[in-house]
Amino acid sequence: MKVFLSTDIEGTAGIVDWGQVLGSGEYEMGRRLLQDEVNAAIDGALEAGAAELVVNDSHWTMQNLLPAELHGRASLISGKHKPLYMMEGLDGSFDAVFMIAYHGAISAERAILSHTYNPFAIYEARLNGRPVGESALNALVAQHHGVPVVLITGDDATRDEAEPFMPGIEAVVVKRSITRFAAHSLHPEEACERIRDGAQHALERLAELAPPAFDLPVTLDMTFLTADMAEMATWVEGVERTDTRSTRLVLDDPLELYKRFCTVGILVRSIAEGG
Ligand SMILES: [Zn+2]
Repeated sequence: MKVFLSTDIEGTAGIVDWGQVLGSGEYEMGRRLLQDEVNAAIDGALEAGAAELVVNDSHWTMQNLLPAELHGRASLISGKHKPLYMMEGLDGSFDAVFMIAYHGAISAERAILSHTYNPFAIYEARLNGRPVGESALNALVAQHHGVPVVLITGDDATRDEAEPFMPGIEAVVVKRSITRFAAHSLHPEEACERIRDGAQHALERLAELAPPAFDLPVTLDMTFLTADMAEMATWVEGVERTDTRSTRLVLDDPLELYKRFCTVGILVRSIAEGG
């Protein structure tokens, strides 16, 4: 059994602030907490019989995890500029996807450190009319390859966003969001225990779980912070302006949709970063 782990960080128990996830302040603490949760997921997968584990470090510069400390002799995809970004490395040879330390969408009502890829550019993303976060966008890649997403960990908003798109997914809630910068977290040891159990349980139920199944063609609606960003998004093929700050892209191919979403994100970053 082959398991693909896509790891973020904001959904880690105990983490509530950008300074804990972006290389300043308490970042060293944050990455340790993440490392433990990733290892807990690996431990659960091994317990359930996983033979091969690939971890894709997908947060920020995508080099948060310590390679030598990964359990299970997991191989590691890390570093920036990956064509399939948070899902780089996934293909049809995998049996299951784990999403570890994920977080809620920028449009969520109450979600710790909420954002959807870029908090300085993307105000909302919708798939087939429904507001989505990173989990559902990334699930497009899993759908293309026909691999079920069986485990997600993070706060309660993360669970609520994933469940409609990944029916039956094992969701391990390690904290309850109070506001965007406050949460009630489990103790890290308790969080890791639950993640390990959740990972094992998810793989034991693998036969019951199906890959994501967005209705085709998939419609991606995006709303940006500024009109300029929406204009720039239309430079990507197929993207049409629907309103001052909004665009739409409709495609039959979920993988191609995800790629163009990433391209739009990279493109508008130049405005978001003040260029
Ligand atoms: Zn993220």
